[in-house]
Amino acid sequence: MTTHKILPELEPKRKLYIETYGCQMNFSDSQIVGSIMTDNNFEITDIIAEADLIFVNTCSIRDNAEKRVRARLQEFKRYKKMKPGLIIGVLGCMAERLKSQLLEEEKMVDVIVGPDAYRDLPRLLSIAETGQKAINVILSADETYADINPVRLDSKGISAFISIMRGCENFCTYCVVPFTRGKERSRNPETILTEAKELFNSGYREVTLLGQNVNSYQSENGNGFAQLMASVAEIDPRLRVRFATSHPKDLSDELLNTMSAYPNICRSIHLPVQSGSDKILKLMNRKYDRQWYQGRIEAIRTILPGCALSTDIIAGFCSETEEDHKQTLELMEWVGYDYAFMFKYSERAGTTAEKKYRDDVDELVKSRRLKEIIDLQQELSYRSNLADVGKTFEVLVERFSKKSQKELSGRNSQNKMVVFPRHNFNPGDYVNVRISSCTTATLKGEAVI
Ligand code: SAM
Ligand code: SF4
Repeated sequence: MTTHKILPELEPKRKLYIETYGCQMNFSDSQIVGSIMTDNNFEITDIIAEADLIFVNTCSIRDNAEKRVRARLQEFKRYKKMKPGLIIGVLGCMAERLKSQLLEEEKMVDVIVGPDAYRDLPRLLSIAETGQKAINVILSADETYADINPVRLDSKGISAFISIMRGCENFCTYCVVPFTRGKERSRNPETILTEAKELFNSGYREVTLLGQNVNSYQSENGNGFAQLMASVAEIDPRLRVRFATSHPKDLSDELLNTMSAYPNICRSIHLPVQSGSDKILKLMNRKYDRQWYQGRIEAIRTILPGCALSTDIIAGFCSETEEDHKQTLELMEWVGYDYAFMFKYSERAGTTAEKKYRDDVDELVKSRRLKEIIDLQQELSYRSNLADVGKTFEVLVERFSKKSQKELSGRNSQNKMVVFPRHNFNPGDYVNVRISSCTTATLKGEAVI
């Protein structure tokens, strides 16, 4: 007698809906999850109501990021009522931080998976399908998902992220990342290059190499980040290369010189400063002071003239005085950032700041300082854009503009958004655009034909 085995591929595919919160790293991880799940007979849907499985890839960096996810989980109850077999999974940093506590607090959740356990998803789902709760939050010292080819979700096929390392061991005192993402580890360079080449060959024209601190990338053969950047840039001059994030303590001249040698490495550096006060930088355990940071900015200006600078700033960290805050504003002026991500300090359980310092800046004072920082940045961004009026930039077209099908939008090497009339150009084209006007957020111009 022959037994008939139903091959998994012959079963109808089930539908997975993934929602992602937080940093670019999380978006990149969701693509790895997408790949693991499509290999296991799921297909991805962007219609939540038809999903058999909902994943939320979460962020823990600030309290409000977690609150948003909790509120969203409440909304999922409705879908579970409509479809009783529906499985809900919480992935990423919140899963890692809260572990089984999250299963107790949020009854609608079936599966909890930390950022290093995505390969275990098929097994965890088979447990959840029997009605039991399933959890894996084991952190790994070596998981890089190097062999997994990410499924490109929500992408227009022009620009892609490539994760080159995972984890962080810098232990800035305010930050939860070392606890939720574990030890720092670098991905093997061959797999990074293969992924970048495949993206280029399938029409992508920009890759962003991702890690919490890309400057400390180290391959097994001892090559560092500058060599990796050079190898990716050499794939093709038409492939733009970006990276995020650099830690100021180890942004090297070697990297700046490599950038200068390759025009397709974009002239834009994100260099989070966090604060302009030496006292606060020390309490944050950032391992550089204001003078060091200014020295790095001067090196960028010398080696890479015209390079755009962006940053992250935290307002109202423990014991921050008006004088400390003023120093942050002054440093922002001195650098003249083109762009910034600005946050109010949010205390995170388990961090050194939570254990050792008092979160003693009044909420209203934090809000006022953050507003002053944002207002100044608006002015700096506008000034920087105004200085570009009259210049011509090479723009990589990404899409039709939000306002009109007759306009295209894309970025210049400095990562500024440029909008211009379409003519016969299309997404993926490189177009020289002469800038004629600007707002705080956008440059506007005409193609130079
Ligand atoms: N690894 C990157 C670095 O060090 O530059 C940044 C990673 S983190 C996802 C992005 C930003 O979130 C940080 O640069 C910091 O400004 C902000 N951040 C981290 N922890 C925070 C906290 N507890 N409260 C407010 N902002 C925080
Ligand atoms: Fe967090 Fe600091 Fe690591 Fe960035 S470098 S992820 S801020 S601990």
